[in-house]
Amino acid sequence: MDNGCIFCQIVAGTAPAAKVFEDDQTLAFLDINPINPGHCLVIPKTHHENLFTMDRHTYQAVASTTLLIAQAIQQSLQPAGMNIFQANGEEAGQTVFHLHNHILPRLENDNLRVEVHGMQTAKPDQLLSIAATIQTAVQS
Ligand code: AMP
Ligand code: ZN
Repeated sequence: MDNGCIFCQIVAGTAPAAKVFEDDQTLAFLDINPINPGHCLVIPKTHHENLFTMDRHTYQAVASTTLLIAQAIQQSLQPAGMNIFQANGEEAGQTVFHLHNHILPRLENDNLRVEVHGMQTAKPDQLLSIAATIQTAVQS
């Protein structure tokens, strides 16, 4: 089956990749445009566009492989630090629409900026209101 997805083609073996690890549900391989040496992608073997279309069972497998490979990269390449990054949707910077976790080894002064905090502290009422909205949407 060819759905035109490059990561599905890597899973199927019809496109090349520098594979690092695979099990029945997941595959880890090196990013073709690495930010730093060891920049790795972890994907589910089944096609899921992003988090929004994904089941918890499959995501648990991706998270587990991400941990395994992150620790292996840390042990073998000994980067100064590491970020785990995931883009969901074009506005979030996603360019390949098959869910993937980036494992980003960090080097001193590599000039990559990953900022996840705003400039202003929110009002407690705002936080409680947004938390309540999310709570009602959580499916057990
Ligand atoms: P994102 O922007 O989060 O969707 O990241 C997609 C990533 O996939 C980019 O970092 C690309 O360099 C990487 N990529 C695209 N095609 C390939 C490929 N054939 N093999 C390995 N990595 C790829
Ligand atoms: Zn795919």
